[in-house]
Amino acid sequence: MFQTALRLIYPPRCLNCGGLVESDGGLCGPCWREMPLIGGTVCDLCGTPLPGEGEGLQCDACLRVERPWDRGRAALVYDGVARKLVLGLKHGDRADLVAPAAGWMALGLRGLVPEGTLVAPVPLHRWRLAKRRYNQSALLARALARELGLTCVPDLLVRRLRTPSLDGLGAEARFATLEAAITAHPKRAAQIKSRVILLVDDVMTSGATLSAATRACRDAGAAGVIVGVLARVAKDA
Ligand SMILES: [Zn+2]
Ligand SMILES: [Zn+2]
Repeated sequence: MFQTALRLIYPPRCLNCGGLVESDGGLCGPCWREMPLIGGTVCDLCGTPLPGEGEGLQCDACLRVERPWDRGRAALVYDGVARKLVLGLKHGDRADLVAPAAGWMALGLRGLVPEGTLVAPVPLHRWRLAKRRYNQSALLARALARELGLTCVPDLLVRRLRTPSLDGLGAEARFATLEAAITAHPKRAAQIKSRVILLVDDVMTSGATLSAATRACRDAGAAGVIVGVLARVAKDA
């Protein structure tokens, strides 16, 4: 009865446009049609949609740049409605997006992650965390772990140094800057050993941050690394 009363006061709204919908965490029909949800044939390393059919394929970007992780999936193409939702998650206070976003991410990752996998967010530096108040990747990691029935370790990885802004840096400089910054939490090293780690981030652009995080896991003895992102920036975006 409480639920019913609550529904009357706060009817479920579309995550994108705020129109009325049937259940929480959903989108209305028109917004669903515009949502670039990824399905079908994908790059096995970054989850970008690919034409044709096949398994274990790689997109041009992943063929060009070395990806130290084993497999990866993205829920959305970073475009249109998805872009708006990701930005809402990053800069606004759209905590209501976390659970549905984790649900979309789980679609591609279920069946890819073995039992006993540890879920960890890509770490945000402390001063950025303070400025933004929360790490959206940590929120996604926690919700995704719940969705997949896995354990989330929010502080598995930490940033050692203050990372300078990566804007304007070339790919190589980005990689070098990030590589030095991410490391396994000293207290978590024993936990990482021989485990598969599912690294979670909100957006994958160049993949530099995920590469650095993957190397930190491998240095700590992880048995494998799988990457899960909410949105993949398409190369022409
Ligand atoms: Zn809508
Ligand atoms: Zn790829």
